[in-house]
Amino acid sequence: MTPQRLCILGSTGSIGTSTLDVVARHPQRYEVFALTAHGRIDALAAQCVRLAPRHAVVADDAGGEKLRAALRAHGVGTEVHVGARALCEVAAHPEVDSVMAAIVGAAGLAPCLAAARAGKRLLLANKEALVVGGALFMSAVRAGGATLLPIDSEHSAIFQCLPEDRRRWAETIDHIVLTASGGPFRQRDPASLDGVTPDEACAHPNWVMGRKISVDSATMMNKALEVVEARWLFDLAPEQIRVVIHPQSIVHSMVVCRDRSVLAQLGTPDMRVPIAVGLAHPERIECGADALDFTRLGALTFEAPDPQRFPALFLAWDALRGPEGSTAVLNASNEESVAAFLAGTIRFTDIHRINASVVEHVQPQLPLQPTLDDLLALDARARIEARRRARECAR
Ligand code: NAD
Ligand code: MG
Repeated sequence: MTPQRLCILGSTGSIGTSTLDVVARHPQRYEVFALTAHGRIDALAAQCVRLAPRHAVVADDAGGEKLRAALRAHGVGTEVHVGARALCEVAAHPEVDSVMAAIVGAAGLAPCLAAARAGKRLLLANKEALVVGGALFMSAVRAGGATLLPIDSEHSAIFQCLPEDRRRWAETIDHIVLTASGGPFRQRDPASLDGVTPDEACAHPNWVMGRKISVDSATMMNKALEVVEARWLFDLAPEQIRVVIHPQSIVHSMVVCRDRSVLAQLGTPDMRVPIAVGLAHPERIECGADALDFTRLGALTFEAPDPQRFPALFLAWDALRGPEGSTAVLNASNEESVAAFLAGTIRFTDIHRINASVVEHVQPQLPLQPTLDDLLALDARARIEARRRARECAR
């Protein structure tokens, strides 16, 4: 078996390390060709020492020097590159078969586009790339002949419930139902949310994830981003996407077919499952996750999301129905407001206040077929507005 050559964008993060965990179980199947990280150079150096990838990419010169020194000390021959362009180069490298897109935020869009245009198997965890890039991203996938495989657990669930032949998806789907855990504040008095700390917001009941997506799960902005993600991955109208709260995170999402038959995918909440599905598709491989024990599962419950408690969720459909670029504005504002909350300068409840205000005031005004530069300029404009509002909240 010729091993699949992998480029893992964001290898030091939660998805990145889970990917390496799955890959390590199948040394004959996968070869790690390139790794990238933004901070945590020590963690990246340890990965390079262990796996000796051909290439590694970091954000800046200081990180590059630190990584080179660490690798020299261990006699590792990995080539170290620096900067955003190098991310695109490794993602599109002719020797790479599959790209795991596990960078957090809009920063992942450019390398995702590069991988799509180069026709890679693109394993997409980085939902923000699709929320910002939408139409541009999907046309790059088509033009490059790339294979887009969802890694987000809900989208992996939908993908697994759909026919292998993508041309049959439209005739199959009446609507989809994305499940949401409801996060750590599902039952908390909304009036008490003003005072929650970043650590409380990141203490997710079912999943261990990076801090940004953990805060997004607490506000349910994560589900809003996933609604947009589903719109593009499965080519759905906004009204074909529904959300239900399912606190146990066992049913990962469902497809309601035209004939009203419902197909769901179940499993323990462990991201190694959807990662393994993406890596091996259409085959199935062992990934280290526990099997579900139905005799110990207890009740699986479902409830409607409360708009008072989770107003962020409902911004998704508004943005999808708004002018093109509305979802990019929402995402940019959210990245900034969540960063301010994690930095301790604004309150948890300010996140939604800022996002709602930014989407109301920033008009996208994109040209008919926006380029990456158009989208990044809009993203920058929305960030300025969000940061300004965050400074006002901080006063
Ligand atoms: P994380 O914060 O744990 O890791 C992010 C990775 O991206 C790190 O390697 C970091 O160094 C890198 N990175 C951060 N900013 C960067 C930048 N500006 N340029 C280049 N690299 C950068 O995040 P995560 O939880 O692993 O999430 C990654 C993506 O996967 C997110 O889009 C998230 O929404 C999605 N996702 C995560 C989970 C999960 O369980 N963690 C589940 C579903 C989807
Ligand atoms: Mg998800």
